Amino acid sequence: MQPAVAESSLTPSVTEFIAARRKMLIDGKWVEAASGKTFTTVNPATEEVLAEVPAGDKEDVDRAVRAARRAFESGPWRRMTASERGRALWKLADLIEARTEEFAQLETLDNGKPLTVARAADIPLVVDHFRYYAGWATKVEGETIPVSVPGMFTYTLREPVGVVGQIIPWNFPLLMAAWKLGAALACGNTVVLKPAEQTPLSALRLGELLDEAGFPPGVVNIVTGFGETAGAAITVHPDVDKVAFTGSTEVGKTIMQQAAGTLKRVSLELGGKSPNIVFADADLDSAAEGAAAAIYFNHGQCCCAGSRLFIEDKVYDRVMPKLIEYSEQIQVGPGLDPKTQMGPLVSSEQLERVSGYLASGKKEGAKVATGGGRPKGLDRGYFVSPTVFTDVKPEMKVVGEEIFGPVVCAIPFRDPEDVVRAGNETTYGLAAAVWTRDIQKAHRAAQLLKAGTVWINCYNAFDASAPFGGYKQSGFGREMGKAALELYTQIKTVWVNVGA
Ligand code: NAP
Ligand code: MG
Repeated sequence: MQPAVAESSLTPSVTEFIAARRKMLIDGKWVEAASGKTFTTVNPATEEVLAEVPAGDKEDVDRAVRAARRAFESGPWRRMTASERGRALWKLADLIEARTEEFAQLETLDNGKPLTVARAADIPLVVDHFRYYAGWATKVEGETIPVSVPGMFTYTLREPVGVVGQIIPWNFPLLMAAWKLGAALACGNTVVLKPAEQTPLSALRLGELLDEAGFPPGVVNIVTGFGETAGAAITVHPDVDKVAFTGSTEVGKTIMQQAAGTLKRVSLELGGKSPNIVFADADLDSAAEGAAAAIYFNHGQCCCAGSRLFIEDKVYDRVMPKLIEYSEQIQVGPGLDPKTQMGPLVSSEQLERVSGYLASGKKEGAKVATGGGRPKGLDRGYFVSPTVFTDVKPEMKVVGEEIFGPVVCAIPFRDPEDVVRAGNETTYGLAAAVWTRDIQKAHRAAQLLKAGTVWINCYNAFDASAPFGGYKQSGFGREMGKAALELYTQIKTVWVNVGA
């Protein structure tokens, strides 16, 4: 029997929020889709309908883009000082922080993640992210250039790009919204944001705080809807200057093609198949625990999940039992249950996808060391057990393709010099990790790994100040840190003839 989860433990504001038919935010007003169409979002722990939201489409995106354009060209946003922009971002952070519990519950209901994780990780990271970019608003600077043309004074201005379309995924719904909005707003852009169809609720709740935070109408517009309709309408819209996307590599390619028609600036944060390398000289306890965290955090629904675990053969038989033990200890269940450490996958499609990979691994001859299917006792909800595959071969689908679920392939290696090459044998390049006590080996590996982030003796470490993004087909452009300012500004060079 599935444990009963007290829906009564929800705060009244959350119950109210999901009970009312939601609207989307265009030009500071809450509106229905022009078509009147809606779609429902589902609680992945119960498979029950959670809320109804507008199915925005081309016409709605067009209205949102026009509002964003007006706000950018002539609204009060244009006249706000950098300091005022920074204060609005800081205020937004305060407003979210004061509602941490409410946002955490919405995230758990919509996405499935454990409430304990949403409270301790997602929402605090969102708050910190907005505070970090609040600080940047006053530090977006140009330069003076010592040109060699006599009589000229030359300087650069770093200006906002304009109207920015932001399309985000469902794995960290509010955090992905924060990653996109923080830098864009600090730099003075206006935004049309499309949350993922599976998880629109926390972004809509955030939208309700924008006015109080001090963002004028039209600066942030939130259009809920499907990728093929609302998302595509943003990508092809002639008056959107830039599109920022996080999601699958496949859709990333489509976005790049669609954006070519109007030569939009594009930044893409895409999938991964990240190598996690354990050398024999590592602290094996932390490496095994780290390997479990690397793949199982957020139920494996992380673009940077450590899904290919390379273990030096000398210690393979010491690391594997620990990894299996960690895997089997994880409490899988509904996110609202305080005992739960891993919730359901986000949707039935995702369950099907991951189950397809489990079947394919078995069919191609991989061995299931633990997991491999649905956990016992959970008869509804999109649950999958933490799974370790062994005896895998490089040509297997489970080794080559991003699964985006709690499934890791354990791969023994003999030659420490060769493992980095094996780790790089993927079209992806989002993240990688090495576990070793040898400082030279660690830094050498970090140099050679073709990935946007390399962790040494840790995994999934994140901070608003540390750039994140991909090599190869994991995308391009860096979010977070100072690097994100590049995505949301353009440089204007000004020549002044000051006389000889
Ligand atoms: P996805 O299709 O790439 O969706 C990401 C976002 O793009 C969503 O907002 C989606 O809208 C939108 N979108 C989809 N097609 C579009 C189009 N043609 N034009 C513009 N926008 C479009 O990801 P998914 O289907 O949710 O998940 C599939 C796989 O993507 C996962 O299994 C995983 O491998 C990968 N993924 C990666 C990340 C990451 O952080 N890098 C995050 C999520 C998923 P809809 O909500 O309507 O689909
Ligand atoms: Mg949902």
